[in-house]
Amino acid sequence: MTNFPIIDGHNDTLLRLYEENEDKNSFFSKGANGHIDLPRARNNQFGGGFFAAFTPNANYEIAPEKYVTSTGYDMPLPPQIDQQTALNHTMQLASMLVELEATSNGIFQTVTNTQKLAFCLENQILAAIFHIEGAEAIDTDFSALQVLYQAGLRSLGIVWSRPNAYGEGVPFRYPSSPDIGGGLTEAGKDLVHACNQLGIMIDTTHLNEKGFWDVVQQSDAPIVATHSNVHAICPISRNLTDKQLQAIKKSNGVVGINYAVNMLREDGQFDTNIPLDTIVQHIAYIAENFGIDHVALGSDFDGTTVPDSLKDVTGLPKLMKRLQAHGFTDKDLEKVAYKNWIRVLGATWKD
Ligand SMILES: [Zn+2]
Repeated sequence: MTNFPIIDGHNDTLLRLYEENEDKNSFFSKGANGHIDLPRARNNQFGGGFFAAFTPNANYEIAPEKYVTSTGYDMPLPPQIDQQTALNHTMQLASMLVELEATSNGIFQTVTNTQKLAFCLENQILAAIFHIEGAEAIDTDFSALQVLYQAGLRSLGIVWSRPNAYGEGVPFRYPSSPDIGGGLTEAGKDLVHACNQLGIMIDTTHLNEKGFWDVVQQSDAPIVATHSNVHAICPISRNLTDKQLQAIKKSNGVVGINYAVNMLREDGQFDTNIPLDTIVQHIAYIAENFGIDHVALGSDFDGTTVPDSLKDVTGLPKLMKRLQAHGFTDKDLEKVAYKNWIRVLGATWKD
Protein backbone atom coordinates (compact mmCIF):
# COMPACT_ATOMS: atom_id res chain seq x y z
CA MET A 1 0.00 0.00 0.00
CA THR A 2 1.11 3.57 -0.56
CA ASN A 3 -1.49 5.68 1.24
CA PHE A 4 0.49 6.41 4.41
CA PRO A 5 0.08 9.87 5.91
CA ILE A 6 2.99 12.14 5.01
CA ILE A 7 4.86 14.42 7.40
CA ASP A 8 6.47 17.09 5.30
CA GLY A 9 9.74 18.83 6.19
CA HIS A 10 9.01 22.33 4.90
CA ASN A 11 6.33 24.61 3.51
CA ASP A 12 5.98 28.37 3.11
CA THR A 13 2.19 28.43 3.18
CA LEU A 14 2.03 30.96 6.05
CA LEU A 15 4.13 33.42 4.04
CA ARG A 16 2.05 32.86 0.91
CA LEU A 17 -1.18 33.55 2.76
CA TYR A 18 0.38 36.64 4.35
CA GLU A 19 1.92 38.06 1.18
CA GLU A 20 -1.11 37.46 -0.98
CA ASN A 21 -3.17 39.30 1.62
CA GLU A 22 -5.48 36.39 1.34
CA ASP A 23 -8.47 35.97 3.50
CA LYS A 24 -7.13 33.30 5.83
CA ASN A 25 -10.30 31.34 5.21
CA SER A 26 -9.00 30.52 1.74
CA PHE A 27 -6.83 27.94 3.51
CA PHE A 28 -10.01 26.06 4.36
CA SER A 29 -11.55 25.97 0.91
CA LYS A 30 -10.32 23.91 -1.98
CA GLY A 31 -8.86 26.45 -4.34
CA ALA A 32 -6.40 26.87 -7.15
CA ASN A 33 -4.10 29.14 -5.14
CA GLY A 34 -0.72 27.84 -4.08
CA HIS A 35 0.43 24.31 -3.45
CA ILE A 36 -1.42 23.63 -0.19
CA ASP A 37 -4.84 24.23 1.30
CA LEU A 38 -6.47 22.16 3.98
CA PRO A 39 -8.99 20.21 1.86
CA ARG A 40 -6.44 19.32 -0.82
CA ALA A 41 -3.90 18.37 1.86
CA ARG A 42 -6.31 16.09 3.73
CA ASN A 43 -7.48 14.38 0.54
CA ASN A 44 -3.95 13.65 -0.62
CA GLN A 45 -2.12 12.06 2.33
CA PHE A 46 -0.53 15.29 3.55
CA GLY A 47 -0.78 14.57 7.27
CA GLY A 48 1.11 17.65 8.35
CA GLY A 49 4.54 19.14 8.55
CA PHE A 50 6.82 22.01 9.34
CA PHE A 51 5.07 25.34 8.75
CA ALA A 52 7.83 27.90 8.31
CA ALA A 53 7.94 31.51 9.42
CA PHE A 54 10.39 33.13 7.00
CA THR A 55 11.21 36.84 6.80
CA PRO A 56 12.06 37.93 3.25
CA ASN A 57 14.28 40.93 2.48
CA ALA A 58 12.27 44.00 1.52
CA ASN A 59 12.47 44.87 -2.19
CA TYR A 60 14.57 41.82 -2.96
CA GLU A 61 13.51 39.22 -5.45
CA ILE A 62 14.76 35.65 -5.01
CA ALA A 63 15.51 34.95 -8.65
CA PRO A 64 18.78 33.06 -9.25
CA GLU A 65 17.78 32.63 -12.91
CA LYS A 66 18.55 36.35 -13.31
CA TYR A 67 22.20 35.81 -12.37
CA VAL A 68 23.29 33.52 -15.17
CA THR A 69 26.96 32.55 -15.59
CA SER A 70 28.59 30.60 -18.43
CA THR A 71 27.92 27.32 -16.63
CA GLY A 72 24.84 28.01 -14.49
CA TYR A 73 23.93 30.83 -12.10
CA ASP A 74 25.24 32.63 -9.04
CA MET A 75 22.86 34.81 -7.05
CA PRO A 76 24.66 36.96 -4.45
CA LEU A 77 23.60 36.61 -0.82
CA PRO A 78 20.91 39.10 0.15
CA PRO A 79 21.82 41.66 2.83
CA GLN A 80 21.26 40.94 6.53
CA ILE A 81 18.02 42.03 8.18
CA ASP A 82 17.78 43.39 11.69
CA GLN A 83 16.34 41.48 14.61
CA GLN A 84 13.38 43.76 15.24
CA THR A 85 12.20 43.58 11.63
CA ALA A 86 12.50 39.81 11.66
CA LEU A 87 10.77 39.45 15.03
CA ASN A 88 7.85 41.66 13.96
CA HIS A 89 7.39 39.65 10.79
CA THR A 90 7.73 36.33 12.64
CA MET A 91 4.95 37.47 15.01
CA GLN A 92 2.65 38.16 12.04
CA LEU A 93 3.19 34.65 10.67
CA ALA A 94 2.98 33.00 14.10
CA SER A 95 -0.31 34.75 14.78
CA MET A 96 -1.62 33.53 11.42
CA LEU A 97 -0.79 29.98 12.51
CA VAL A 98 -2.70 30.56 15.77
CA GLU A 99 -5.68 31.98 13.87
CA LEU A 100 -5.77 29.12 11.38
CA GLU A 101 -5.86 26.66 14.24
CA ALA A 102 -8.56 28.61 16.09
CA THR A 103 -10.87 28.73 13.06
CA SER A 104 -10.31 25.14 11.92
CA ASN A 105 -12.90 23.45 14.15
CA GLY A 106 -10.17 21.15 15.40
CA ILE A 107 -8.97 19.78 12.08
CA PHE A 108 -5.75 21.84 11.97
CA GLN A 109 -3.61 21.75 15.11
CA THR A 110 -0.15 22.85 16.14
CA VAL A 111 1.79 20.00 17.73
CA THR A 112 4.66 20.21 20.20
CA ASN A 113 5.16 16.54 21.06
CA THR A 114 5.22 13.28 19.14
CA GLN A 115 2.22 11.79 20.96
CA LYS A 116 0.01 14.56 19.65
CA LEU A 117 1.63 14.32 16.22
CA ALA A 118 0.80 10.60 16.03
CA PHE A 119 -2.73 11.28 17.31
CA CYS A 120 -3.27 13.87 14.57
CA LEU A 121 -2.04 11.49 11.86
CA GLU A 122 -4.40 8.77 13.09
CA ASN A 123 -7.39 11.11 13.25
CA GLN A 124 -7.12 13.06 9.98
CA ILE A 125 -6.16 16.25 11.81
CA LEU A 126 -3.61 18.29 9.86
CA ALA A 127 -0.62 18.69 12.17
CA ALA A 128 1.51 21.84 12.07
CA ILE A 129 5.01 22.06 13.54
CA PHE A 130 5.97 25.70 14.12
CA HIS A 131 9.35 26.33 12.43
CA ILE A 132 11.40 29.49 11.91
CA GLU A 133 13.60 29.61 8.80
CA GLY A 134 16.64 31.79 9.58
CA ALA A 135 17.21 32.83 13.22
CA GLU A 136 17.27 36.62 12.67
CA ALA A 137 14.25 37.06 14.96
CA ILE A 138 16.16 35.54 17.89
CA ASP A 139 18.18 38.01 20.01
CA THR A 140 21.56 36.74 21.20
CA ASP A 141 20.33 36.71 24.83
CA PHE A 142 17.78 34.13 23.64
CA SER A 143 14.82 35.90 25.29
CA ALA A 144 12.80 35.54 22.09
CA LEU A 145 13.85 31.89 21.86
CA GLN A 146 12.46 31.15 25.32
CA VAL A 147 9.17 32.94 24.65
CA LEU A 148 8.74 31.45 21.18
CA TYR A 149 9.39 28.00 22.61
CA GLN A 150 6.51 28.56 25.03
CA ALA A 151 4.42 29.67 22.03
CA GLY A 152 5.06 26.31 20.35
CA LEU A 153 8.30 26.76 18.41
CA ARG A 154 9.88 23.32 17.95
CA SER A 155 12.17 23.74 14.94
CA LEU A 156 14.68 26.41 13.93
CA GLY A 157 16.78 26.88 10.81
CA ILE A 158 19.94 28.69 11.91
CA VAL A 159 20.19 30.60 8.65
CA TRP A 160 18.40 31.14 5.41
CA SER A 161 20.70 31.89 2.43
CA ARG A 162 21.83 35.14 4.05
CA PRO A 163 24.31 35.90 6.84
CA ASN A 164 23.05 36.59 10.36
CA ALA A 165 24.38 36.81 13.93
CA TYR A 166 24.70 33.03 14.05
CA GLY A 167 26.20 31.92 10.75
CA GLU A 168 26.21 32.14 6.98
CA GLY A 169 23.95 30.53 4.43
CA VAL A 170 24.95 29.41 0.96
CA PRO A 171 24.19 31.61 -2.03
CA PHE A 172 22.10 30.02 -4.79
CA ARG A 173 25.03 28.95 -6.98
CA TYR A 174 25.19 26.24 -9.66
CA PRO A 175 27.42 24.37 -10.04
CA SER A 176 29.06 24.84 -6.66
CA SER A 177 30.20 23.11 -3.53
CA PRO A 178 28.34 24.14 -0.34
CA ASP A 179 31.74 25.08 1.14
CA ILE A 180 31.32 28.86 0.86
CA GLY A 181 32.14 31.21 3.74
CA GLY A 182 32.87 30.76 7.43
CA GLY A 183 31.38 28.60 10.17
CA LEU A 184 29.01 29.40 13.01
CA THR A 185 29.77 32.43 15.18
CA GLU A 186 30.20 31.96 18.93
CA ALA A 187 26.56 33.06 19.26
CA GLY A 188 25.69 30.40 16.70
CA LYS A 189 27.33 27.69 18.78
CA ASP A 190 25.48 28.99 21.87
CA LEU A 191 22.24 28.89 19.88
CA VAL A 192 22.82 25.21 19.09
CA HIS A 193 23.29 24.46 22.80
CA ALA A 194 20.22 26.51 23.76
CA CYS A 195 18.08 24.62 21.21
CA ASN A 196 19.44 21.28 22.42
CA GLN A 197 18.53 22.21 25.97
CA LEU A 198 15.00 23.34 25.16
CA GLY A 199 14.34 20.53 22.69
CA ILE A 200 14.03 22.66 19.55
CA MET A 201 15.06 20.79 16.41
CA ILE A 202 17.97 22.47 14.60
CA ASP A 203 17.65 22.60 10.83
CA THR A 204 20.91 22.76 8.84
CA THR A 205 19.12 23.55 5.56
CA HIS A 206 20.59 26.62 3.78
CA LEU A 207 23.68 26.51 6.03
CA ASN A 208 27.10 26.55 4.38
CA GLU A 209 29.39 23.56 4.83
CA LYS A 210 31.58 24.97 7.64
CA GLY A 211 28.45 25.91 9.58
CA PHE A 212 27.07 22.41 8.99
CA TRP A 213 30.18 20.80 10.48
CA ASP A 214 29.99 23.16 13.46
CA VAL A 215 26.42 21.98 14.12
CA VAL A 216 27.59 18.35 13.84
CA GLN A 217 30.30 19.07 16.41
CA GLN A 218 28.18 21.12 18.83
CA SER A 219 24.77 19.45 18.74
CA ASP A 220 23.74 16.44 20.80
CA ALA A 221 20.59 15.86 18.71
CA PRO A 222 20.20 14.03 15.37
CA ILE A 223 21.40 16.18 12.45
CA VAL A 224 18.59 17.28 10.14
CA ALA A 225 18.14 19.04 6.82
CA THR A 226 14.41 19.63 6.33
CA HIS A 227 14.48 20.57 2.62
CA SER A 228 17.73 19.73 0.79
CA ASN A 229 18.76 17.23 -1.88
CA VAL A 230 21.68 15.13 -3.09
CA HIS A 231 24.72 17.07 -4.34
CA ALA A 232 26.08 14.02 -6.18
CA ILE A 233 23.00 14.21 -8.44
CA CYS A 234 22.45 17.97 -8.63
CA PRO A 235 25.62 19.93 -7.75
CA ILE A 236 23.99 23.14 -6.50
CA SER A 237 25.42 24.86 -3.38
CA ARG A 238 22.13 24.13 -1.51
CA ASN A 239 22.45 20.32 -1.74
CA LEU A 240 24.23 17.90 0.60
CA THR A 241 27.50 16.16 -0.23
CA ASP A 242 28.00 12.46 0.49
CA LYS A 243 30.17 13.39 3.49
CA GLN A 244 27.35 15.48 4.92
CA LEU A 245 24.84 12.68 4.26
CA GLN A 246 27.18 10.27 6.05
CA ALA A 247 27.26 12.60 9.09
CA ILE A 248 23.45 12.79 9.09
CA LYS A 249 23.28 8.98 8.99
CA LYS A 250 25.84 8.69 11.82
CA SER A 251 23.76 10.99 14.04
CA ASN A 252 20.61 8.99 13.20
CA GLY A 253 19.19 12.11 11.55
CA VAL A 254 17.16 12.67 8.40
CA VAL A 255 16.94 14.65 5.15
CA GLY A 256 13.63 15.88 3.73
CA ILE A 257 13.79 15.83 -0.07
CA ASN A 258 12.93 19.18 -1.65
CA TYR A 259 10.78 19.36 -4.84
CA ALA A 260 12.48 22.52 -6.19
CA VAL A 261 13.20 21.70 -9.84
CA ASN A 262 16.60 23.45 -9.82
CA MET A 263 17.67 21.37 -6.81
CA LEU A 264 16.44 18.12 -8.38
CA ARG A 265 17.68 18.37 -11.99
CA GLU A 266 21.23 17.31 -12.81
CA ASP A 267 21.59 20.45 -14.95
CA GLY A 268 20.29 22.70 -12.14
CA GLN A 269 17.91 24.44 -14.52
CA PHE A 270 14.51 25.93 -13.75
CA ASP A 271 12.70 23.79 -16.33
CA THR A 272 9.62 22.25 -14.68
CA ASN A 273 9.20 19.56 -17.29
CA ILE A 274 10.66 16.62 -15.37
CA PRO A 275 9.17 13.28 -14.35
CA LEU A 276 8.34 12.32 -10.75
CA ASP A 277 11.17 9.81 -11.06
CA THR A 278 13.63 12.70 -10.62
CA ILE A 279 12.36 13.04 -7.04
CA VAL A 280 12.49 9.26 -6.67
CA GLN A 281 16.14 9.32 -7.82
CA HIS A 282 17.19 11.56 -4.88
CA ILE A 283 15.23 9.50 -2.34
CA ALA A 284 16.63 6.23 -3.72
CA TYR A 285 20.21 7.58 -3.66
CA ILE A 286 20.02 8.26 0.08
CA ALA A 287 18.14 5.02 0.79
CA GLU A 288 20.64 2.91 -1.15
CA ASN A 289 23.84 4.62 0.01
CA PHE A 290 23.00 5.69 3.56
CA GLY A 291 19.87 3.74 4.53
CA ILE A 292 16.10 4.12 4.36
CA ASP A 293 16.06 5.52 7.93
CA HIS A 294 17.66 8.77 6.81
CA VAL A 295 15.41 10.03 4.04
CA ALA A 296 11.98 11.68 4.18
CA LEU A 297 10.06 14.37 2.32
CA GLY A 298 10.53 18.15 2.54
CA SER A 299 8.42 19.65 -0.25
CA ASP A 300 9.15 23.41 -0.03
CA PHE A 301 5.51 23.78 -1.16
CA ASP A 302 4.45 27.42 -1.58
CA GLY A 303 8.12 28.42 -1.47
CA THR A 304 9.50 27.08 -4.72
CA THR A 305 8.82 25.89 -8.27
CA VAL A 306 7.92 22.19 -8.36
CA PRO A 307 7.80 19.73 -11.30
CA ASP A 308 4.70 19.92 -13.53
CA SER A 309 4.36 16.16 -12.99
CA LEU A 310 3.79 16.81 -9.25
CA LYS A 311 1.87 20.12 -9.60
CA ASP A 312 1.07 20.62 -5.91
CA VAL A 313 0.00 18.64 -2.82
CA THR A 314 -2.43 16.66 -5.02
CA GLY A 315 0.61 14.97 -6.64
CA LEU A 316 1.70 13.18 -3.45
CA PRO A 317 -0.28 9.95 -3.99
CA LYS A 318 1.31 9.66 -7.46
CA LEU A 319 4.77 10.19 -5.94
CA MET A 320 4.18 7.43 -3.39
CA LYS A 321 3.10 5.08 -6.19
CA ARG A 322 6.27 5.90 -8.16
CA LEU A 323 8.34 5.04 -5.09
CA GLN A 324 6.52 1.74 -4.80
CA ALA A 325 7.11 1.03 -8.50
CA HIS A 326 10.82 1.73 -7.93
CA GLY A 327 10.87 -1.13 -5.41
CA PHE A 328 10.28 0.48 -2.04
CA THR A 329 8.41 -1.88 0.31
CA ASP A 330 5.48 -0.87 2.54
CA LYS A 331 7.89 -0.69 5.44
CA ASP A 332 10.20 1.60 3.48
CA LEU A 333 7.37 3.85 2.34
CA GLU A 334 6.06 4.19 5.87
CA LYS A 335 9.50 5.38 7.02
CA VAL A 336 9.87 7.89 4.20
CA ALA A 337 6.31 9.15 4.67
CA TYR A 338 6.29 9.77 8.44
CA LYS A 339 8.14 7.31 10.65
CA ASN A 340 11.61 8.79 10.12
CA TRP A 341 10.36 12.24 11.09
CA ILE A 342 8.64 10.87 14.20
CA ARG A 343 11.81 9.04 15.23
CA VAL A 344 13.99 12.13 14.86
CA LEU A 345 11.51 14.43 16.60
CA GLY A 346 11.11 11.91 19.42
CA ALA A 347 14.89 11.95 19.94
CA THR A 348 15.00 15.77 19.85
CA TRP A 349 11.92 17.18 21.55
CA LYS A 350 11.72 17.13 25.34
CA ASP A 351 7.96 16.94 25.90
ZN1 LIG B 1 14.23 27.23 2.36
